[in-house]
Amino acid sequence: MIKIKTEEKIGDIIFGYSTGGSHLQEENAILRETIAQLKSELDRFRQVPLMVCELKELSRDGAIIKIPNGNQFLVSVAEGCNKLRAGDMVLVEQKNLTIIKRIQSSKGFNVEKFVIVEKPNIPWKELGGLEEQVNEIREVVELPLKKPELFKKVGIQPPKGLLLYGEPGTGKTLLAKAVATSTNATFIEVVGSELVQKFIGEGAKLVKEIFQLAREKAPSIVFIDELDALAAKRLDIGTSGEREVQRTFMQLLSEIDGFKNLGNVKIIGCTNRKDILDPAITRPGRLERKIYVPVPTKEGRREIFRIHMRDMDTAKVETSRIVECSGGFTGADIKAVCTEAGYFAIRAERTYVETADFLRAIEKVRRKEEEGKEYVTMFG
Ligand code: ATP
Repeated sequence: MIKIKTEEKIGDIIFGYSTGGSHLQEENAILRETIAQLKSELDRFRQVPLMVCELKELSRDGAIIKIPNGNQFLVSVAEGCNKLRAGDMVLVEQKNLTIIKRIQSSKGFNVEKFVIVEKPNIPWKELGGLEEQVNEIREVVELPLKKPELFKKVGIQPPKGLLLYGEPGTGKTLLAKAVATSTNATFIEVVGSELVQKFIGEGAKLVKEIFQLAREKAPSIVFIDELDALAAKRLDIGTSGEREVQRTFMQLLSEIDGFKNLGNVKIIGCTNRKDILDPAITRPGRLERKIYVPVPTKEGRREIFRIHMRDMDTAKVETSRIVECSGGFTGADIKAVCTEAGYFAIRAERTYVETADFLRAIEKVRRKEEEGKEYVTMFG
């Protein structure tokens, strides 16, 4: 419809001016070009959209592709569509799924945009009250990376990875970053819940690429926070969402299985919910070493306070009283107390802190904590 109308209208104009001189001929040519452009535009509108898929495998029988809902098909490749490789993103025809074209960005996305990749700078002395945990993580991660020959001589295989578990804010991330610092390893941080919520349909692919990146940047540590979002026991994997999480989890297991114990990539999983983890993730050969990171003891709290008070003027502070009053606080709580105490001093136009600032800060942090817990009971 549109095509005919457009042509008639432009045809009239052409006819109306065709008896003119060279100026009109020029105009005529421009209008003809416009018609051609409009025709090709209309042809484009008529085209059926092509589907974006992942090429899984190439064989003599054709190509195996994975369509966005996760199903896989054996399909053929159109003439002239060469240089395909497994892992490429391709455009396929919707009816018979023939591969028409490879999309330029073969990876589909740049994995470094979705994970945090850094070289942390956290010395061991930044950690308070975690002596046992520090020793253990050094044995499992640092020693094999620094002295692999020792393990060969003794004839044992160090674990490929470990699981850090315990209350939120007890210093699990800090421990992982400190061991990355001491081994000069690249720290690749992934959040389990993001992997399964943000990248629907892409979780397994992303896991694959994260581990590829870890190999490229080795020595490296892959730190998976909120591992339980990915590796929880599943009783029912009926829904497509659950199947997707399961696929991502399976990919994670196969990546871990693909590493050598004495390789220079280590995996550290982190969770507050060890009780719901699928035991498959902590089997021998996977994250077999489990390290519990507890809420600090009184002595631990004293050390953590010392770390976070280091740059404050605390000459007038009775540290032991503060340590006593902060029972049950985690490292993250203690850090918050120090910041709050500093704010009380600023509000009183002082540059030094007093015991009273800390006591008020402790009360404030405790109140916030309790409000948070109430919120969780009401809504969570
Ligand atoms: P989550 O489970 O919520 O991820 P987490 O156990 O990983 O928590 P971190 O992120 O390591 O806790 O801790 C948060 C902050 O609290 C740290 O950046 C640090 O400033 C402080 N902190 C926690 N534990 C300690 C500790 N043992 N010594 C010194 N500082 C600590």
